Amino acid sequence: MAISTIFQKIINKEIPANIHYEDELCIAFDDIRPQAPVHILLIPKKEISSHREVGEDDQSLMGHLIVKAKEIALKQGLKEGWRLVVNTGNDGGQTVYHIHIHILGGRPMKWPPG
Ligand code: 5GP
Repeated sequence: MAISTIFQKIINKEIPANIHYEDELCIAFDDIRPQAPVHILLIPKKEISSHREVGEDDQSLMGHLIVKAKEIALKQGLKEGWRLVVNTGNDGGQTVYHIHIHILGGRPMKWPPG
């Protein structure tokens, strides 16, 4: 079991968030410090601390997140595209240790990332 983070409080509705989507497996809400016109965080309700901790038994959950990320991006009107980011560990720039997919869009993205 991972150590609970601020995202668990969002799942539990103990702190507010602008929620775009929720089902029994996941929840999506606006990032508090948006880096693009659309910046949504999609997280599983299961407490997985990072991509490093994803296991074989998480395959369908991770697939569910990828499908829902597409639906959320399209619902946001991101017809020109979007970017999904999963920062992992120190070198990945991860700051919150509850796995999350950043859904970024609404402007052209640069490559390579910083
Ligand atoms: P990471 O750096 O771990 O990939 O991303 C964590 C993200 O969570 C950051 O983009 C940060 O702005 C966001 N964040 C941190 N605390 C909160 C919070 O309390 N509420 C919301 N909505 N986002 C948060």
